[in-house]
Amino acid sequence: MAEAPQPSRIAADIDFEAEGRQAGYLRAPLSRNRSGWGIVEIPIVVVKNGRGPTVLFTGSIHGDECKGPIAVSELARTLRPEAVQGRVIMLPAVNIPAVLAGTRLSPADNRDTNRCFPGTPRGGFRERVAHDLDAVILPVVDVSVDLHTAGHSGDTALSTNMHRIAAPALMARTLAAAEAFGAPFNVVFGGVDEGAALTSAVERRGILSLGTELGGWGRVNREGVRIARRGIRNILGHVGVIEGEPDAGRQDGGAAPGTCMSPPAAAMPSPRRRAPSSRQTLPAIGCAQASRRDGCISSRTSTARRSSCAAGTTACCGCRPGPAGWRAAIPSPS
Ligand SMILES: [Zn+2]
Repeated sequence: MAEAPQPSRIAADIDFEAEGRQAGYLRAPLSRNRSGWGIVEIPIVVVKNGRGPTVLFTGSIHGDECKGPIAVSELARTLRPEAVQGRVIMLPAVNIPAVLAGTRLSPADNRDTNRCFPGTPRGGFRERVAHDLDAVILPVVDVSVDLHTAGHSGDTALSTNMHRIAAPALMARTLAAAEAFGAPFNVVFGGVDEGAALTSAVERRGILSLGTELGGWGRVNREGVRIARRGIRNILGHVGVIEGEPDAGRQDGGAAPGTCMSPPAAAMPSPRRRAPSSRQTLPAIGCAQASRRDGCISSRTSTARRSSCAAGTTACCGCRPGPAGWRAAIPSPS
């Protein structure tokens, strides 16, 4: 007989069905040296008004990735119920112990919270948090946007990302949402899905899932914050939770983001040991490899392409434009 689902070990002083704006905490038990019955308070804000889609924004599952918390916190402070049709759930700092420590991993267990989904209520801190997200919050969510940067381990182009999804309709909706987000690049991962990330848990439930990578090296830059701030509002507009058309235009006047198919994980470059110059961006989106392996399809402007290729991946400049729009060029999932 199948084992009954285990209740979450995390308490919430939020009623997800209540109308209006609520700000509170998810309270996760964490026994530690100086507090045997300690609690970690994870901030959460929910804004609900009537019927409509539910959108989840999560930031800082990795604690050294600052742009998500900045953008989601700002939205949480300013979003008014009367401007919403539906529900917005905002967790600007999921891994709050790591945020306070400025580290990728939580000092509570020195493990990666984004490598343990769907989690378990019987596990340690990270497993309990993952389980609560997967078993309590995701079932009420229609669209999830998980905001990341590369933290201290590298740098990335400003981009959304997603996995290849077997369901064509959901894949198409995901690509449309990525385009609406308005990052300069959209990346479809073909070989880096461990199945243990939040985005994977979202996809398993058939929910529209977007991730982002918005720079890195533990830094905050103005353009990354701008893209994050605008992107999450663009998503709300795209799904009809707030009014207004998404603004996905580029600052340099170009209109369309580009997309690349990522290489298999084995082809990903090793992290560098030193900080790069400001023009370098990690080829984590895999343009160089993808252009050879999967057919990198890019509608980026030449300016953006040169910037992305500054890490020395000269093969990236072999990216070919998507002649009929990049959606049509995405291979069918196998
Ligand atoms: Zn991350």
